[in-house]
Amino acid sequence: MQVVFLGTSGSWPTPKRNVTAIALKRGGEVLLFDCGEGTQRQLMQSPLSFMQISRVFLSHFHGDHFLGLPGMVQTMQMNDRKAPLEVYGPVGAEDLVPRLLRLGHFAPNFPVPARDLRDGDVLDFGEYTVRALDAPHAVPALSFVLEEKPRVGRFDLAKAKALGLPEGPLYRRLHAGETVTHGGKTFAPDLVVGPPRRGRKIVYTGDSLPNEKLVPFAMDCDLLIHDATAETSLVEKANQYGHSTARQAAEIAVKCRARRLVLTHVSPRYEEPTKILEDARPVFPEAILAEDFTSLEIPYPE
Ligand SMILES: [Zn+2]
Ligand SMILES: [Zn+2]
Repeated sequence: MQVVFLGTSGSWPTPKRNVTAIALKRGGEVLLFDCGEGTQRQLMQSPLSFMQISRVFLSHFHGDHFLGLPGMVQTMQMNDRKAPLEVYGPVGAEDLVPRLLRLGHFAPNFPVPARDLRDGDVLDFGEYTVRALDAPHAVPALSFVLEEKPRVGRFDLAKAKALGLPEGPLYRRLHAGETVTHGGKTFAPDLVVGPPRRGRKIVYTGDSLPNEKLVPFAMDCDLLIHDATAETSLVEKANQYGHSTARQAAEIAVKCRARRLVLTHVSPRYEEPTKILEDARPVFPEAILAEDFTSLEIPYPE
């Protein structure tokens, strides 16, 4: 699993940073979290193909998070896209997205279904789920928790051999959870297959005040991507507009025992954003400040 930051600026772009978009590549699929203006061009400069995007999750309808969608969809169509593109967002998405997709002399000829998500909604995509949670912000907004389902446990080769089981199809069947017979004896899978291993968990706050309600859902996440619009000297202003400081982001990361913390949505006021990182590091020393095209590999926890 690879996470690529395509835009890391809050409110408007700067020469160094585009507005928000985060791509998550999982197998052959790319999920896009937010789609600020210019995201399609950022994608073209990244190692990802924008045609691989299957689902877009919009955190809210401030322009810096969604204005890239109509342009991207038009380009997809000109590249003969046929596969559906699912779009999810806070309440209003079902109304706004179809209107966005009919701007100018354009109407999509491939399906782009839009769906409103409410606090607590969980979407089941088979191998993973995405949960939406209300984010405290200036307008209706969501945070997202992507969680892979547990994987089957490890196969203990030594134990299987010690039990006198021959290598081959029997191993595969046991690993798939089947009870097998060999030499007149019955073997249950738990004799040779370890306990299920947890999948990966990625949390994206979108624009948000520090949110205690997110903590239980983000617990033990492999990656927390948090709003870090400003640093502590500007805490009042940041919070007034529904944003967090880097310090507040770090405190949430500690509370939910995040393995990694990436700070993003940096205010354009920071030409040199080291202050943001310095603000978080006393609380969460390993914090990372996202730059455009920062790419992280997220390994399985075990
Ligand atoms: Zn924003
Ligand atoms: Zn916003």
